[in-house]
Amino acid sequence: MTTTAVANQKGGVAKTTSVHALGVAMAERGAKVLLVDLDPQASLSWACGVDPDSLELSIHDVLLNRAKVPDVLITLEPPAPATPGGPVGVLHLLPSTIDLAGAELHLLTKTGREFVLRKALAKVADHYDRVLIDCPPSLGILTINGLTAADDVLIPLQCESLSQRGVGQLLETIDDVRDYTNPDLAVRGAIATLFDGRTRLAHDVVAQVREQYDITVYEPFVPKSVKVAEAPAHGRSVLTHAPRSKSAQAYRDLAAQLLAPPRKGRRS
Ligand code: ADP
Ligand code: MG
Repeated sequence: MTTTAVANQKGGVAKTTSVHALGVAMAERGAKVLLVDLDPQASLSWACGVDPDSLELSIHDVLLNRAKVPDVLITLEPPAPATPGGPVGVLHLLPSTIDLAGAELHLLTKTGREFVLRKALAKVADHYDRVLIDCPPSLGILTINGLTAADDVLIPLQCESLSQRGVGQLLETIDDVRDYTNPDLAVRGAIATLFDGRTRLAHDVVAQVREQYDITVYEPFVPKSVKVAEAPAHGRSVLTHAPRSKSAQAYRDLAAQLLAPPRKGRRS
């Protein structure tokens, strides 16, 4: 089992969108996938068709040690297999609610606070091929919990603005996490999201990140598309909402690469 934290302290870079789409794409290939919503905004839960306000238990209860992961899990409908007759995947969600914002305060006073999610997930690790953690848009204790629980980090880059400046700060935080709580944490690389290939800026962002930070930026880039933006309102990812769109195909292609063992050689 591999646990991947999808992190970037900037909001709106498609962390949540990418966790959802990659998870569905991996499940299409028969993988057993757990999606972890670690954001108090609960956008991932909502995008998966779950109303966060209606939940009795959430990841908040897990982090406060009031519930176990299996009691909180929601089983989502797995997507149709990528190859007809192929293995049907598993798609589970560890949902979030706005209560999670309070967990930050609670955790701050707790010994071992960085390890709470790691410990909770370790008990269910055997059930999954891949755990994908949707981190909140900050470098606070929740994100540190996500990075401490992870084997590697995937960084969505929003190619519409010079968002790569935050990447250096994120890499510094990853170095801190390696020093203090998770020495084996790897940077798997970045994925370019909201990509508009017609603009020079989009290409510049990718080139600068590759050069400046020596991390892999996977291809294909995920094109900006209204199909992606409208999918969450239907409680599904772009893979189900617009299965043949270029954005869905890009996420499928990326998921196949991410399911394979990492390439060696770069910083990541
Ligand atoms: P984050 O989790 O990093 O804050 P989201 O995944 O919520 O970012 O994405 C921010 C917004 O951009 C959402 O409204 C989402 O639907 C939209 N979005 C994400 N990816 C794309 C895309 N490829 N094309 C168009 N809109 C997108
Ligand atoms: Mg999000």
